[in-house]
Amino acid sequence: MNALTHFKTKLIAGLVCLAILNTASSIANASDSGEVNLYSARKEQLIKPLLDKFTEQTGIKVNFVTAGADALLKRLQTEGQNSPADLFITTDAGRLNRAQQEGVLQSIKSDVLEKAIPENLREPEGFWYGLSQRARPIFYVKGKVKPEELSTYEALADEKWKGRICIRSSNNIYNQSLVASMLAHDNEEHVEAWAKKFVANFAKPPKGGDRDQIKAAAAGQCDIAIANTYYYGAMLTNTKDSKEKEAAEAVAIFWPNQGEGRGTHVNISGIALTKSAKNKEQALKLMEFLVSKDSQKWYADVNQEYPVIADVEWSELLKSWGQFKADTLNLAKLGELNSEAVKLMDRAGWK
Ligand code: FE
Repeated sequence: MNALTHFKTKLIAGLVCLAILNTASSIANASDSGEVNLYSARKEQLIKPLLDKFTEQTGIKVNFVTAGADALLKRLQTEGQNSPADLFITTDAGRLNRAQQEGVLQSIKSDVLEKAIPENLREPEGFWYGLSQRARPIFYVKGKVKPEELSTYEALADEKWKGRICIRSSNNIYNQSLVASMLAHDNEEHVEAWAKKFVANFAKPPKGGDRDQIKAAAAGQCDIAIANTYYYGAMLTNTKDSKEKEAAEAVAIFWPNQGEGRGTHVNISGIALTKSAKNKEQALKLMEFLVSKDSQKWYADVNQEYPVIADVEWSELLKSWGQFKADTLNLAKLGELNSEAVKLMDRAGWK
């Protein structure tokens, strides 16, 4: 490539980048203009009304871009210190930890955040903070499985479940985090032995997302599905797709690892200050706003999630699923154990 073509290619690439930035949400370089720039892996409808309210209350304008979690992380890495982003919102502690390891985050301490968010739902150094909570329980087909037959994730390795379990693939972060949580509580040998038996009980090779597992169970392909609670909630309240609603109504929640156990596996959606943040003060204000009582209620309800702060009422739907004991493992552990979990799932033949 000669110098001129090279320059042209770079120029075009630069213009394309600018165009993306402008169309997506016109993120400006707002170093001292009372603005804050957010990259959000959560869909616009899950966050926009809250951001508007924040602007109304503080006068701080929020510019935001929404895209897939991996795409946004890649973008933060590519842009480096030139990134306009001050904040990054994404789901799963495993992903937040990945961003931390990639060096695109910085820690920030705040009494408000530390007081509001339980210790296990935030990174100990302040690299990220949980904003909402989701659980990953067992769903069973009503009439085919009695809740008395269920107990723990570990017990799903029993031969009686042969050909009866639906779960998505091991390249999904939610399953990686679930296995990482098991590794945090038990030794590798035990967890690997469990994973081999668990995989041998799959009804079919893993395919599709969490909703698909519930649908497959309802369609008679399996009797047990593992999924995040908000997918179940979204299916139950789906007014546009009656088939999805019916599928969800065919199953019920079972909260595993209760009683003397460690509790059901939970995960979060969370927020982090980026390494490149130029509007730190405004960014912190937004973080603190998101853990206020009103924000927490709205933010959790809109996606059928659980609030992270204690004194916020759950939505009626969540209340109907009952109280449960959640695993209180510090979720930063999920990130630390992620690669170990991925390798283990691979050895167990979890596709
Ligand atoms: Fe999800």
